Amino acid sequence: MKIIKNISEVKKICSDKKIALIPTMGAIHKGHESLIHKAQEKASFNIVSIFVNPIQFANNDEYINYPNNINSDIEKLKNLKVDAIFIPEIREIYPLGFSTNVDVGQISKVLEGKFRPAHFTGVATIITKLFSIIKPDHAYFGQKDAQQCLVIKKLNDELNLGVKIFINPTVRDQNGIAISSRNKNLNKIHLKAAESLFKSLCLSKQLFEKGIDNTKYIKDEMKKVIMQSYPTKIDYISIANSNTLEELDKIALPTLISLAVWFGETRLIDNILLK
Ligand code: AMP
Repeated sequence: MKIIKNISEVKKICSDKKIALIPTMGAIHKGHESLIHKAQEKASFNIVSIFVNPIQFANNDEYINYPNNINSDIEKLKNLKVDAIFIPEIREIYPLGFSTNVDVGQISKVLEGKFRPAHFTGVATIITKLFSIIKPDHAYFGQKDAQQCLVIKKLNDELNLGVKIFINPTVRDQNGIAISSRNKNLNKIHLKAAESLFKSLCLSKQLFEKGIDNTKYIKDEMKKVIMQSYPTKIDYISIANSNTLEELDKIALPTLISLAVWFGETRLIDNILLK
């Protein structure tokens, strides 16, 4: 496995190959692994990027406290038979004076964008840079970050970057909790309580399948499931068109049901797609 740190080297290595890119912020877990396995099904040169992108965090504390296990990540990625990893330093990506931002507009201002205003500009900027540097044929992302997937598809289309985007289903633990590097910050009580997120999402699906399409009613029932398990702060429960993210009064497919909920100092997001 090649370990590449600078842009000129990664450009050279990727220039004559069919490339599958899996962008990550490290702390490699089963969610990332599912993307790698999927990428490896196609016989291309697979490259995992690890870059904790400072400009997509809500604040400096969140950035500084983001898990950093680079040695164990390298071991895991070697064992997964990844062809190369790209681990640039911050100044390699954002040299002093860097001032360009990629803003995809309205779709990045709602839901996560409302609570974390600079987040998607940060995501869109780093993904545009990675796509421009590596020029992958394919890139792999997780449905766990549904809004991020929409932002990336939009910038890829509108900037004519020509990357084929694959979205993988959310990988969950045996209790239904979406696997995330943030789960490490949950204590036992919060971990148990976090099971209510997927339970509430499953309930929304069951209610819809029973013929209930009133989104206010469904959101209230979801809220009850969460609050009965652990009284906490819910940033949002959203039932929206899964392409435009416009909120719906009545479910009309395809619909994205998504939420963001606090457990202690940790904010978790999750979603399901009704097609
Ligand atoms: P991150 O390192 O958190 O930026 O995630 C890198 C990629 O892995 C993103 O495309 C995420 O959506 C994806 N990902 C993270 N967690 C999961 C999960 N539980 N299941 C599937 N994909 C995931």
